[in-house]
Order: sequence, then C-alpha cells, then structure tokens
Amino acid sequence: MYDDSNIFAQIIRGKIPCKKIYEDKDVLFFEDISPVSKVHVLGIPKVSCVNFSDFISNNDEKVIANFFQKVNLVVKKLEIEKTGYRIISNSGSDGGQEVPHFHIHILGGEKIGPKIR
Ligand code: AMP
Repeated sequence: MYDDSNIFAQIIRGKIPCKKIYEDKDVLFFEDISPVSKVHVLGIPKVSCVNFSDFISNNDEKVIANFFQKVNLVVKKLEIEKTGYRIISNSGSDGGQEVPHFHIHILGGEKIGPKIR
C-alpha cells in the first residue's frame, strides 16, 4: 500500500526542496541528501509505486521504458557514462529500503566499493 506522505512524494509535490538534476512531467532526478560517492543521484517516477516490483507490475510499458530511458539521459548529463557508474534499487526490508517510493540510486564519479547502498 502506497503512503503518499513519504519524503519522495513530498519532494514531487514541491513540499520538500531538493537539488534537481533533471525533471519532466513523468520523472524527477535529484541529489541524494547523504551521498555515499562523488556522484549520488536518485531517480524517481512520478507515479505512486512503493518499489521496483510495484513499478514494473502496475505500470504501462511506455511509462517503464520512459523512466529507464531518462535514467540513461541523466547518466549522460552527469558525464559518467565513460568512467562508469552503478545503478541500485533497494526494495523492502532485506534490501534496506528506507523510503517507500520506488527509486534508483545512480552512483559514480569515483570507484564504488563492493557493497555500497
Ligand atoms: P533507500 O535506502 O534506497 O530507500 O534510499 C533512500 C535514500 O534517500 C537515502 O540514500 C537517503 O540519503 C535519501 N534521502 C532521504 N531523504 C532525502 C531528501 N530529503 N533529499 C534527498 N535524498 C534523501
């Protein structure tokens, strides 16, 4: 069950500020407030979805494809395509998910350790 009082829902609504990297009507990318690498950007779709499985299971293919195409666009915008990066999505308690709105972490700008985020 989606809780629309979660932090990222409030960021989408403009109730909580964020450092925007890219936004359009469907997606928002912003800097993580507590970065674990030189580049640490979060990407979220604006649809209400708790985690990866919820996003994939309950949205149209176009919405899903568009989100991941925007992830790629942001990777290029961040200029980490050649040096490399890691994309992570934590889900549920074993996955260590803190915020219950589906999001991906884009980590880069330096070598990322074996276990991070
Ligand atoms: P996860 O553990 O995958 O749910 O990641 C949640 C991430 O959200 C963490 O890396 C937090 O540092 C980040 N975070 C929490 N609140 C904010 C906020 N207000 N603005 C930006 N990032 C946030």
